[in-house]
Amino acid sequence: MTAYNKRAYNFSAGPSMLPIEVIEEAAAQLVNYKGCGESVMEMSHRSKEFKAILEDAEKNLRDLLSIPDDYTVMFIQGGATLQFSMVPMNLMTGSGKADYIVGGSWAKKAAKEAEKFGDVKVVATSEPDTFTYIPKVDPSEFRKDADYVHITYNNTIYGTHYGSVPDTGGIPLVADMSSCILSEEIDVTKFALIYAGVQKNVAPAGMTVVIMKNDFIGKAPADTPVYLDYKTHGENGSTYNTPPCFCIYIAGEVFKYLKKNGGLKAMENKNREKAGKLYDYLDSTDFYKTPVAKEDRSLMNVVFVTGDEELDKKFVAEAKEANMHNLNGHRSIGGMRASIYNAMPEEGVDALIEFMKKFEKENR
Ligand SMILES: *Cc1c(COP(=O)(O)O)cnc(C)c1O
Repeated sequence: MTAYNKRAYNFSAGPSMLPIEVIEEAAAQLVNYKGCGESVMEMSHRSKEFKAILEDAEKNLRDLLSIPDDYTVMFIQGGATLQFSMVPMNLMTGSGKADYIVGGSWAKKAAKEAEKFGDVKVVATSEPDTFTYIPKVDPSEFRKDADYVHITYNNTIYGTHYGSVPDTGGIPLVADMSSCILSEEIDVTKFALIYAGVQKNVAPAGMTVVIMKNDFIGKAPADTPVYLDYKTHGENGSTYNTPPCFCIYIAGEVFKYLKKNGGLKAMENKNREKAGKLYDYLDSTDFYKTPVAKEDRSLMNVVFVTGDEELDKKFVAEAKEANMHNLNGHRSIGGMRASIYNAMPEEGVDALIEFMKKFEKENR
């Protein structure tokens, strides 16, 4: 039996599954990348081989998302969490005000961090209802002079997702897309800045993709630490210092894989089909319940419970025995969560539904 055959369906929210084609290609190139005598892990980030990797990665990401020329793409370390700080440090510099829509724990953390840098207003939150829906906001509720509005486009822990880009009435929009980037088509021009930690849907852990409209770069105060100023990364093509080379390489391979497989429209269709199957099953039984408002259901993170904590634990343990890993909900809320990013094959979702049916029969 090969290692391939022994691989589990990994429903982890992140780090999470990567396309097997990408892993196998990386394995084939791991020791001696394209015959250059070095592996990507060892080569200089200033070498011509790595420059090509970086340029290709950026170009393919631009193609996939139709990123316009007046936007800069940056690969930055520190995860999405560092962006919770970098965004206000760089952008809360006009009126010093920013409005946050809080639809989950990550959004809440982002807003809390921003409070260190200026005047934050939580314009809407679904926290009193345990974040089971996306808070709807009328554009008139935003402060007209806010430097930006911040949203979390897909709430990884609670399994909710924006069905469309909210209207801010012209205030620049910043979005955390960590758990949904590249899962669907998106109109980048509606955003001033998009950021996404790559360990959910793009690459191994270790960096964040930032897509930023050029007009917003260069607004950080003069005493901003050099590494925390977007200008540093933008002006130096993500190589002001040593970038996360291997992570950029794998991200680039994933971008190529997505292009080869029909781009984001094809991914979105596939994701709708996978998530649709799972929600259809959840809707057909009263054994499992999903607390999420129907119109806000995430295609990436499907959250459900049996209503009995012990039974939930049993479900997660038995699923693991059946080669389906990491189905536990986030440690903050428990229950179950199936993260079904781009790399989760449809057979994985089918296998999960079969397991759920069997578990229901045995435990009803
Ligand atoms: C995982 C996640 C984060 C945190 O990402 P790190 O890279 O671990 O800092 C932030 N926002 C969202 C939406 C996430 O899913």
